[in-house]
Amino acid sequence: MKDSYGREIDYLRISVTDRCNLRCRYCMPEGIDKLPMPDLLTYEEIEETARAAARLGFRKLKVTGGEPLVRRNVPELIGILKRIPGIREVTVTTNGTLLAEQIGALKAAGLDAVNVSLDTLRPERFREITGTDALASVLEGIQASLDAGIRTKLNAVLQRGVNDDEWEELLLLAKDRALDVRFIEMMPIGAGRQTAGVSNEALIGQIARAYPLIRADEEVHGNGPAVYMHIPGFTGSVGFISAIHGKFCDSCNRLRMTSTGLIKPCLCYGDTVDVRGILRGEGDPAVRAWKLEEALREAVRRKPEAHCFETVSEITEGKRMVQIGG
Ligand code: SAM
Ligand code: SF4
Repeated sequence: MKDSYGREIDYLRISVTDRCNLRCRYCMPEGIDKLPMPDLLTYEEIEETARAAARLGFRKLKVTGGEPLVRRNVPELIGILKRIPGIREVTVTTNGTLLAEQIGALKAAGLDAVNVSLDTLRPERFREITGTDALASVLEGIQASLDAGIRTKLNAVLQRGVNDDEWEELLLLAKDRALDVRFIEMMPIGAGRQTAGVSNEALIGQIARAYPLIRADEEVHGNGPAVYMHIPGFTGSVGFISAIHGKFCDSCNRLRMTSTGLIKPCLCYGDTVDVRGILRGEGDPAVRAWKLEEALREAVRRKPEAHCFETVSEITEGKRMVQIGG
């Protein structure tokens, strides 16, 4: 459906948990309380909301977290979402640690694509960034996903003085693999506010100096705001998600739903529309369906024209990224 600024909103990001088996400092610093399980939407409740979204014209769903693959039976949820009439694509964003063991079931359930988040290829740095020693399992997960023939992308967030010297090693993962490597600018959400990121503008300059034949890649690679470039001789492409230095709000196509059923019109603002109250409070399924559609329409109506990341004092979102899903 169209929002007040004429944008087609057809993409819903669904967080299925606030829990994670890693502790990326900019996303999930130590000391945040876990939500009690009964607060999370059940798979039935997620399905009911996704069905309402599909009736309104939503076509693409992303399952995220926290770490989605730590929740039990996520492949089952993928299968449920894939069977909803109108839904064309169901994808997952994961830290990759549990991907190798679940990829068979995810593929069988009909998963269309996977984004794996990985900020470094150095084991000791991986431990520093994520608080764990799981690099090998992430690399195994990426390979398993490629071997299964699932469209796979890698998302990396560069932090100044932490891993910004590693852009080329990350980029080279796309050389001989059908893997798009995407650089996401650090956003001032949660602990990201206190973490210095790297501007994609500066990064593109560095890449272009090292690879002067790099050129724009016009092919559509997915649902989102990434701008893609191609380096001759590379199998995969390189993408840039420049929330700060390349505002892409005029092409925003999404709503986000937290694991507790709060629909977020925009990443930058704390404004939400609650669907859990509807899912748990209204007995008549037909009335519930109508109320869910109305709540989603309201969230679309409340989408602002643009985010305000460049003016940190205007950001009203107080949740951490791990509670939102990215
Ligand atoms: N656990 C899964 C993962 O790591 O892909 C899914 C959830 S995680 C919140 C989704 C993405 O958000 C990850 O790629 C992570 O690097 C990114 N992220 C977290 N905090 C961020 C921030 N402040 N700015 C930009 N990206 C952030
Ligand atoms: Fe967990 Fe993903 Fe956040 Fe890292 S970025 S702490 S893997 S939710």
